[in-house]
Amino acid sequence: MHELSLAQNIVEIIHQHVHENDLHNVTNVKTVVGECSGVAAESLAFSFSVIVNNTPLNNANLVIQKIPFEVYCNVCKKKSSNEFGMNVCSFCASTNCEILSGTEMNIVEIEMFEQTKKNV
Ligand SMILES: [Zn+2]
Repeated sequence: MHELSLAQNIVEIIHQHVHENDLHNVTNVKTVVGECSGVAAESLAFSFSVIVNNTPLNNANLVIQKIPFEVYCNVCKKKSSNEFGMNVCSFCASTNCEILSGTEMNIVEIEMFEQTKKNV
């Protein structure tokens, strides 16, 4: 269960950035997941919802933006992609390519409810 441990890591990162008393104010946790990162986005979102259920983070929703796999070819200087995540140019089949995106998995933003109530 690769996605389950990833979801646990995300929860830990939220705890590092958000004060304990504000955890219930967390709404959206925005992440980017590369198409060829080996992470199943649906499985990750499900794992996250299971972990935060019945915790102060139960308002939090994992938002996953999928990033397409892209390589830059050093031979024909073109960007291309392939569904296999292989470091090969789609135009000239050269393997002299650099991976631009599609293998990452990062948290980009933690959104919170606005604090409208004040302690009296
Ligand atoms: Zn090429």
